[in-house]
Amino acid sequence: MAKKVGVLALQGAFIEHIRVLGELGAEAFPVRLPGELDGLDGLVIPGGESTTMSRLMLDYHLTDRLRGLARDGLPIMGTCAGMILLAKRVMDMDVEPLGIMDIDVRRNAFGRQVDSFEIDIEMPAFGETPFHAVFIRAPVIERVGDGVEVLARLPDGTAVAARGGDMICSSFHPELTCDPRFHAYFLGAI
Ligand code: GLN
Repeated sequence: MAKKVGVLALQGAFIEHIRVLGELGAEAFPVRLPGELDGLDGLVIPGGESTTMSRLMLDYHLTDRLRGLARDGLPIMGTCAGMILLAKRVMDMDVEPLGIMDIDVRRNAFGRQVDSFEIDIEMPAFGETPFHAVFIRAPVIERVGDGVEVLARLPDGTAVAARGGDMICSSFHPELTCDPRFHAYFLGAI
């Protein structure tokens, strides 16, 4: 049976995730209300603006519900702003993260001059072919807890993708390239 994967659709790049997941055979659909979280096999929190998303999550009564589902083992993938929302700690007072993945992140970590860039990075978990990663005003991972594995680093060693238990995250936007390996990895894990 196709896996049911919700994509949080309050704001940001959710359509692209639904497209990739659908192409991989999942039943993917947008989620905006707490009731739409029932019976999911997995959830994606997309990129966008984490300050806006965390506010909307509170307004839509999704924050505590998501924390509960994460505690019960719902696999969640967070990309870019989605990764910020998964984090335990964010070096920024404007965001209230869910605190459901044991990582600390820094928002807008690349400053103004190189705030968006693309680079091929090694991702051993996906095989030998490097992954083309698109960074858009991206955060970075500054700390990973015990039990969290770094899946990708920039050439200078900065951690930009990780997996911990049922959570997987990236600083970059895997939904904006034609390479489905990131989503396939998530579907394989759920
Ligand atoms: N800069 C955004 C934030 O801090 C994230 C950007 C993105 O998701 N592409 O929320």
